[in-house]
Amino acid sequence: MWARKSAIAPLRKNIPAVRAAAVDNAAVAKYTDFVARSGVRINNYIGGRFVAPVAGNYLDNVEPATGEPYSQVGDSDAQDVERAVAAAEEAFAGWSRTAAAERSRILLRIADLIERDIEKLARAESVDTGKPLSLARTLDIPRAASNFRFFATAILHTETEAHVTDNLALNYTLRQPRGIAGLISPWNLPLYLLSWKIAPAIACGNTAVAKPSELTPMTASMLCELCDEAALPAGVLNIVHGTGPNVGAPITAHPKINTISFTGGTVTGRKVAEACAPLFKKVSLELGGKNPTIVFADADLNAAIPGAVRSSFANQGQVCLCGSRIFVERPIYQNFVDGFIDKTAKLRVGDPLEPTTDQGAIVSKTQLDKVKFYIELAQQEGGRIALGGSAPDTINHRCRSGYFLQPTVITGLPVSCRTNREEIFGPVVSITPFDSEEEVVAHANDCDYGLASSVWTQNLSRAHRVAEQIHTGTVWVNCWLLRDLRVPFGGMKQSGVGREGGNEALRFFTEPKNICIAK
Ligand code: NAP
Repeated sequence: MWARKSAIAPLRKNIPAVRAAAVDNAAVAKYTDFVARSGVRINNYIGGRFVAPVAGNYLDNVEPATGEPYSQVGDSDAQDVERAVAAAEEAFAGWSRTAAAERSRILLRIADLIERDIEKLARAESVDTGKPLSLARTLDIPRAASNFRFFATAILHTETEAHVTDNLALNYTLRQPRGIAGLISPWNLPLYLLSWKIAPAIACGNTAVAKPSELTPMTASMLCELCDEAALPAGVLNIVHGTGPNVGAPITAHPKINTISFTGGTVTGRKVAEACAPLFKKVSLELGGKNPTIVFADADLNAAIPGAVRSSFANQGQVCLCGSRIFVERPIYQNFVDGFIDKTAKLRVGDPLEPTTDQGAIVSKTQLDKVKFYIELAQQEGGRIALGGSAPDTINHRCRSGYFLQPTVITGLPVSCRTNREEIFGPVVSITPFDSEEEVVAHANDCDYGLASSVWTQNLSRAHRVAEQIHTGTVWVNCWLLRDLRVPFGGMKQSGVGREGGNEALRFFTEPKNICIAK
């Protein structure tokens, strides 16, 4: 039943040069080209082995920049999940009792290996998602390595609570691994977000059954090879590839998986919550957003304009934290709009593998169509397309059938229209003027989502005042996407339940147990 110990078996014999010299760009390019030609099959990783789905089915894995399938990914089902759970259960007995120092050493090795292979992973992420190679190289892959490094060291510095009950007893709290964690992630930041779940789950002594998005499975599979090389014991991490209904749903419904960490859309999050509630699973839900960017008249526009352009269009606007509703105080409204459009128009849309590209492809045809639908809707709702709105005409021959869209700026929309309330998750932003602090706080909060916001002002008192009143899990002031792994991360309202990051993650992936000893 077991296949060879390789995720992408036909490739392995062709890439020793890449393995030996990870930063050799010529070798990496050859590797990518080979992937593009060969139609490799991405298999599941179960019990430390790469195995084909039981039913033997595969799905095409499309490169968004070309619109062409370039590999295949396992189309697994509940039988594969069952095997992964059995492997995770068997591994739990040993891994949960492995000393924290040893778990830490293995996770640090994984971090080192991710960094060693940064070029290869960045290229694979760029091909799989359509994101610019430069972004994968500077954000996705380094942050994935940081996630492993952070939790590898965090477990060496934990504290436990103790409570003395007068002269009667001493209580102390053990935080023990919970068992098997189900980890489900989306396509926008594939390795980055998956590692944000895998690292704390296994660092705490749990074992894991993970499902990446079927649209972007490649780097999850490459991570398994690195875990193997780092000597992560078999069965501690298991990856099952396939669709949400066929793999995600069996994971959330499995009675032996008692912890679910999910990142994805709000509609799917609701299904996950419904599946988990009757089984009383511990659940963390990181869901969608419709994030406000607020620019006051006293803001430093030299920082606010590039900051807002980045927060609007990073990863083609496909970051859950992207600001898609910009509110600008009226005295500087026209200046801001002119500066914002000028800077956005300079973003180079094109082949994600070109070093000069700022904006790559949208992840899929379905997602591109959804974004186009909202651009149409915005015009019906009274909006004016001030920039973009259609495909760019500068795409190279290789990418002529890819899923590209110009960064799009819309003005003149009513605050409460659908375009301003529903998550688009693409390179589309609206800009609206406001007249007072009270008014803009009401606009920011007039939304079902509550994930993140950014506020641009040089008035410190106003920054504190506004940040306190906005209903989002994160408020950035004069910055965006600035990351500290110790802080709680997550959303309010329909943006989710629970928090990830730092101690929040360590608490989520452990079970507190109080031990009361009579004096
Ligand atoms: P999605 O459609 O909700 O999918 C997320 C994951 O859930 C995918 O792996 C998906 O598999 C799986 N899934 C689908 N149906 C399922 C089911 N019934 N049971 C269990 N799993 C199921 O989201 P997406 O389109 O991939 O990602 C975009 C969304 O993610 C946006 O809404 C964005 O805001 C959100 N997001 C949130 C955060 C955050 O931290 N809050 C971060 C990133 C993204 P398939 O791929 O097969 O559908």
